[in-house]
Amino acid sequence: MSRNEEGKAEPQATLRVASGIPSPMTHDSRPTTRATHVAVIGGGITGLTAALRLAQRGCRVTLWERGESLGGQANAFPVAGTAIERFYHHLFQSDRDIVALAEEIGIGDRLLWLPSNVGYFADGRIWPLNGALDLLRLGFLPMKDRLRVGLVTVYLQRVRDWKRFEAVTAAAWLRRALGSRAYDRTFGAQLRAKFGRYHDQVAMVWFWGKIWLRTTSRRSPLEGERLGYFQGSFNVLIDALAQTARDAGAELMTGDGPRELKPRDRGGWNVVLDSGVVAVDAVVVTTPSPVLARLVPDLPEAYRQKLGGLEYEAAVVALLQLTHPLSDIYWLNVADDDLPFTGVIEQTNFIPPEEYGGKRFVYLSKYLEPDHPYFTMPDEKLIDAYVPFLKRINPEFSRSWIEQAWVFRERSAQPIIPLHYGERIPDHRTGLPGLYLANTTQIYPEDRGTNYSVRLGNQIAEIVAGDLAGEPART
Ligand SMILES: Cc1cc2nc3c(=O)[nH]c(=O)nc-3n(C[C@H](O)[C@H](O)[C@H](O)COP(=O)(O)OP(=O)(O)OC[C@H]3O[C@@H](n4cnc5c(N)ncnc54)[C@H](O)[C@@H]3O)c2cc1C
Repeated sequence: MSRNEEGKAEPQATLRVASGIPSPMTHDSRPTTRATHVAVIGGGITGLTAALRLAQRGCRVTLWERGESLGGQANAFPVAGTAIERFYHHLFQSDRDIVALAEEIGIGDRLLWLPSNVGYFADGRIWPLNGALDLLRLGFLPMKDRLRVGLVTVYLQRVRDWKRFEAVTAAAWLRRALGSRAYDRTFGAQLRAKFGRYHDQVAMVWFWGKIWLRTTSRRSPLEGERLGYFQGSFNVLIDALAQTARDAGAELMTGDGPRELKPRDRGGWNVVLDSGVVAVDAVVVTTPSPVLARLVPDLPEAYRQKLGGLEYEAAVVALLQLTHPLSDIYWLNVADDDLPFTGVIEQTNFIPPEEYGGKRFVYLSKYLEPDHPYFTMPDEKLIDAYVPFLKRINPEFSRSWIEQAWVFRERSAQPIIPLHYGERIPDHRTGLPGLYLANTTQIYPEDRGTNYSVRLGNQIAEIVAGDLAGEPART
């Protein structure tokens, strides 16, 4: 399996087949007479949404995606007669922007809302965790701690004023609220799982956002949680979004990306590709921030420093195709520190195995720093390191259950949200006329996710189109 510059594994050529999107370097041949030409760099959900909106606003749009298929982190590849995401994906009911987009582009009926099924792996066993009663049964914690966890959760569900959480770390706030023992076994374990060596630097805003999202994801407190999924995978959204953008006149290029972005003497930008130079009026970069810093060596120093001041956690995700179910839980958080992965996400306990020809699919997830050995270890070695621990999840597990295995890596998986993050977010306007940034580091106070990429794509298109039309800047 090859790995791209950001450390992201590219599944072999099969990806092209799965998504029904054009093969590398295909062009939409529609002639365009539009005056203003905008380049979009990156064909994830943000870039595709921005391309659609800019084209709808009358701009000529060319999007370049370096990977061989569109969709970025949400992209799916073909398995068992259908497709599955490289990185597990679902939606919350609070994800309104992506739901509205799905309706608009004609795939609203493909969005299913299915019951979630969450569990916790601690002290060597699975504890279901789907509501207050399950919380009271968490036998690996003393009853006093279970009650504290419940009370703190209810309290956080009611807080609306998140600004007060900008100045305190989640570790400090939660440790104080829960006591060290309960913190270490519950929310502390989750913070360590998501942020590795940064776990005690993350602001409480991030944690509040997670709790709040899940609360607003229930239609009523009595109803169990339902999560959203596109029947046929997130490629259903990606393909329809790409097609709608093309229908609006956008050109979407895959398998290519700029080497450099250079300001032109008389305004506008040159997109420097291996195959030639394309002159445009404006550029929207939707890649991770280090890519922008590399593409534009002459960024204003203050802006460059802002970009450099933000860090991302990386992710390694192994996906197993199994003959048997591993457990009956969809989303299993792992609290036992000696397991090498921190999440077990069994897709076929969310989407029925019948959708996958009866096969079972399980993701083994770990967020880590890019200098962690798992980030560069050969795929087979990583699977070898993980497999013995699957017996802990299900003592009957046997290696013979594994029919296929894949490993996917993403260098810029999760922006790290330190204290006072609101002041550290780089502006969409980079300080160089006509050059814009729209990426996951600018999603706040919510945690990054496809819904917020849609929102970001909508917002950046409005900003760029407004600037090009000479409208006064709104901040
Ligand atoms: C493990 C994991 C699980 C997740 N689970 C969920 C979930 O359950 N629900 C959810 O909503 N979200 C989830 N997300 C997050 C979600 O996928 C992302 O937040 C979202 O897809 C980001 O979209 P984006 O377009 O901003 O960025 P990306 O998807 O990263 O897109 C950026 C694109 O830029 C391209 N690129 C980079 N450099 C260049 C270059 N030089 N030239 C051209 N192109 C370039 C990249 O190839 C990429 O396609 C998950 C993410 C991960 C890693």
